[in-house]
Amino acid sequence: MAQVSFHLDDVVQLKKPHACGSNQWRVIRMGMDIRVKCEACGHSVLIPRPRFERLVRKVLHPGSSVAAEMNSSSTDS
Ligand SMILES: [Zn+2]
Repeated sequence: MAQVSFHLDDVVQLKKPHACGSNQWRVIRMGMDIRVKCEACGHSVLIPRPRFERLVRKVLHPGSSVAAEMNSSSTDS
């Protein structure tokens, strides 16, 4: 069983869509429980970590930890 790894500020796709129809959620807090915010309507929910790990289908957009690696430095002429 492959486990999806996720990090703070990632946008993930869950197997269960929110009531508003979107299944894209942003991870806004990590801990024993994971707090995620619906990307469509902004509603946030707290999900116990073991349950959340089973709900994650895939990571759609890596969060700031990856974005920080990208530095636009090749602009010297
Ligand atoms: Zn929603």
